[in-house]
Amino acid sequence: MRKSMERARVTRRGAERWRRGHPWIYRSDVVEPPAAGPSGVVVESETGETLGTALWSPASTISLRMLTRDVVSLDERFWSERVSAALRHRRSLGLPATPGRLPASAETTAYRVVHAEADGLPSLIVDRFDQYLVVQLLSAGLEAYRDTLVAVLRRHLEPEGILARNDVPVRQHEDLPRTVEELHGRVPEEVEVREYGVRYLAALRTGQKTGAFLDQRENRHRAALLARGRALDCFAYHGSFALHLAAGGADEVIAVDSSGEALARALENARLNGMDRIRAVEANVFDFLRAEEASGREYDIIVLDPPAFAKRRDAVPQALRGYKEINLRAMRLLAPGGYLCTFSCSYHVSREAFRAMLVDAAEDSGRAMRWVEARDQAPDHPEVLQIPETGYLKGAILQAADS
Ligand code: SAH
Repeated sequence: MRKSMERARVTRRGAERWRRGHPWIYRSDVVEPPAAGPSGVVVESETGETLGTALWSPASTISLRMLTRDVVSLDERFWSERVSAALRHRRSLGLPATPGRLPASAETTAYRVVHAEADGLPSLIVDRFDQYLVVQLLSAGLEAYRDTLVAVLRRHLEPEGILARNDVPVRQHEDLPRTVEELHGRVPEEVEVREYGVRYLAALRTGQKTGAFLDQRENRHRAALLARGRALDCFAYHGSFALHLAAGGADEVIAVDSSGEALARALENARLNGMDRIRAVEANVFDFLRAEEASGREYDIIVLDPPAFAKRRDAVPQALRGYKEINLRAMRLLAPGGYLCTFSCSYHVSREAFRAMLVDAAEDSGRAMRWVEARDQAPDHPEVLQIPETGYLKGAILQAADS
């Protein structure tokens, strides 16, 4: 036991939450805060019972993030064991977890190594792009262990560079600066990712998230297996679904996004794959779908992968109206037997609400819609049942079953 670790005392409600497996203890449940700044602390119940060791973030509403049920020293060995377990899990999923550059035969060269709370490493994201790592340290308590974490990641994965994409708004709630910086070696602007035979460039420094939407990898692969005829990729960003639709055998792919810059990259990615069947359309998807419906065009496969329409709980009703509109219109645009691959990455929109929205859209569409299968975030973004925040992406594949 480390004598130097400060103590925090928490309410019964806070203790009960951790007993059930959720690592967050909110400020309102901290009865006696530790005297120290951001660091590892020992957490006790109101009656003095030890609840474990946690990361302490004095400025945050999530004050404590529990790491263990006992008192441990948060030294290099501790972090190394957690990273090791995360890598073991990726390996068990069939992902390539050898250090350094990955072999050309790897089915994917980019995946999430650490999915924060779901890997027992609260507020830490580590994404691997071949021989580079992109990390996000999302709490002040964790930031205190930055150098140790970098050393541990270097030891396990021997990356050529580690980039911190700490430019995310949540860092403000932790009183942390928003920065993008190299923590080790050199990290290029772009890294080529190979994903089930498709190549694309991830923009590590400037792209959304840590450079690419790795959580959709398995869904892109699934969509490729269903692709044929005329395909439509809505909210295409850098075209990753469009590339897989083309690789999967679609004759023509239209990629729609409101960002011309994102579409320029989509076309660059198409060229990288020697694909000439992808056409980019810069438009608002809502307007585009309405116009397509009016023109009577049909598609054999449509992908809807919008940004999170509900960033907050109170935005859910309006978000569901948005989701319904695009899904309803996409259903009407399907050729007989056509597939709709539809997603929501809004954490606040539950699977149940998403499905109910699809039922509602199907009823209004006038089409008989078959539920083919439910889809999830890729398993390298594990979801822990007791920690609902670890799961956010939900999707479905539907098929126009009328003829
Ligand atoms: N499908 C992508 C990720 C999509 S991210 C992938 O798998 O990599 C969401 C994209 O939607 C962004 O590129 C953003 O520019 C775009 N977007 C947001 N609102 C839009 C709208 N109303 N119409 C068209 N594009 C929109």
